[in-house]
Amino acid sequence: MVSKAVLVEIQPQLTATKVLLERVFANPKIEIQCGARIESIRGGERVEAIEVVELKTGKRILVDANGILVHIGIEANTNYLKGILPLDAKGQILVNERMETEVGGIFAAGDIRHNSPWQISTAVGDGATAALSLQRYLLTLKD
Ligand SMILES: Cc1cc2nc3c(=O)[nH]c(=O)nc-3n(C[C@H](O)[C@H](O)[C@H](O)COP(=O)(O)OP(=O)(O)OC[C@H]3O[C@@H](n4cnc5c(N)ncnc54)[C@H](O)[C@@H]3O)c2cc1C
Repeated sequence: MVSKAVLVEIQPQLTATKVLLERVFANPKIEIQCGARIESIRGGERVEAIEVVELKTGKRILVDANGILVHIGIEANTNYLKGILPLDAKGQILVNERMETEVGGIFAAGDIRHNSPWQISTAVGDGATAALSLQRYLLTLKD
């Protein structure tokens, strides 16, 4: 959609799936800047440039830009669960293989659960597993 895109990555190399990397490398519109950090965004009402710093050399480069898309890491939105459910160090919910938490009747599925592979297919599978566990749980309440 754009004439040029600059991908700035703080790690020394990109770490995505090989097939996706090959697509990026083959696209002549995409310029890759690894081992670099965005220091500032320049402009007034609109973005005009980004200031990029090369980590090894400390060299600063001003890159003309009309826009910026930020995607830095993933943080679990689970602060509200602290003290209610056991969470791991990253804030993801601890579950067993049935997607059950330590609290009866509360299940977790998808990206939010501990050790999730962060894939659509696994999130869907987790959801099915959690639903079956919920069914089992409800049956225990019947008696
Ligand atoms: C840029 C990017 C690219 C990706 N590419 C792929 C890919 O190619 N293949 C692949 O398999 N996976 C990919 N993924 C991962 C995939 O999107 C996730 O694994 C999947 O969406 C997880 O599903 P989920 O239902 O667990 O979480 P989400 O899809 O994140 O759904 C969680 C929902 O809960 C809502 N929510 C959050 N907090 C609350 C709250 N307190 N109360 C109510 N609702 C709340 C959110 O708004 C959201 O709608 C990608 C992810 C990203 C970010």
